[in-house]
Amino acid sequence: MSEVYFIAANEGVPLLDKLEILLERAAGVNLNGIVALKMHMGERDNKTFVKPVYIKKLVEVMKQHGGDPFVTDTTTIYKEARYTAMDYYRTAFAHGFLPSYLGCPVIIADGLKDDGVQVNEQVEIAKSIYESDAMLLVSHATGHSASSFGGAIKNVAMGCVTKKTKRYQHDVTRPVRDPELCTECDRCIEVCKHNAIREDHELIPENCIGCGSCISECTSGALRSPEGMSEKLQKRLAEVAHAVLRNLPYSTFLFLNFLIDITPFCDCAEYTPEYLSPDIGVLASNDIVAVDLATIEMIGTQVFEGDPTIQLREAHKLGLGELDYKIVKI
Ligand code: SF4
Ligand code: SF4
Repeated sequence: MSEVYFIAANEGVPLLDKLEILLERAAGVNLNGIVALKMHMGERDNKTFVKPVYIKKLVEVMKQHGGDPFVTDTTTIYKEARYTAMDYYRTAFAHGFLPSYLGCPVIIADGLKDDGVQVNEQVEIAKSIYESDAMLLVSHATGHSASSFGGAIKNVAMGCVTKKTKRYQHDVTRPVRDPELCTECDRCIEVCKHNAIREDHELIPENCIGCGSCISECTSGALRSPEGMSEKLQKRLAEVAHAVLRNLPYSTFLFLNFLIDITPFCDCAEYTPEYLSPDIGVLASNDIVAVDLATIEMIGTQVFEGDPTIQLREAHKLGLGELDYKIVKI
């Protein structure tokens, strides 16, 4: 049975003041050498990403215990404000992730040109994450429009890899089109930033990154998500997370899930003042499956769209972690 450490929100003492003890208890702070503090620093119009004040504290504690951390993430496959490393640096700095404030470097892990280390046919790990000595994975627990839930498994699978591997996972989210329902309004063509829709409104699969923007625009229902998308995507997330964690040249990981500002969508989405649950706290474990399962169960499985546990059960089957856990409250 895996242990999942927990500090509660809204119990008088601010979470910030309890983070140090959480890290010390959960990791024994054995995060030594160069530590990749992997997180999502928020898309341009998102406001609910994990805030720099928490990251600064985690950096401070790791440094006190001999670690040499840097804050990191990878670029996106969709064309917004984190599409290139240069875009991402601008967005990260605008969100307050400044090296001078955090006390450590901020490094976009797939470099200026999508730089990765190939570990199997489909999976390339972002170079700077591969070259670290340990990882502290900070995940913001949210719902997700395609994968039902986003936590630690999704953060590893989608966040620690190059564009090629993100694309492999998104292959299963490409829309399907029913020409009978199409009113030829052209909205899908206008919204697609990847030239993936022809003039006759047929999709060009090799250009499509499965972002779903065209589906949101298509009011006639001609474009929709493919059958079984969530299950297929969640299984790919587990497969890629497994490939990443088993092929990194180190095995010191700590998974920290922030159950605060729990939105229905991930931090790639624009801010909407909607929450799935009040703030709960922060969970930490060396077991990625246990920390995600505890997260879902604390939030409430029923609030997610679809079954959020497919990715965890798949990851468990692949040997990434346990479905039995006990909460150790700090
Ligand atoms: S948005 Fe929908 S209805 Fe409009 S052209 Fe595209 S597929 Fe057809
Ligand atoms: S999902 Fe739609 S909008 Fe996104 S890349 Fe594919 S065709 Fe373009």
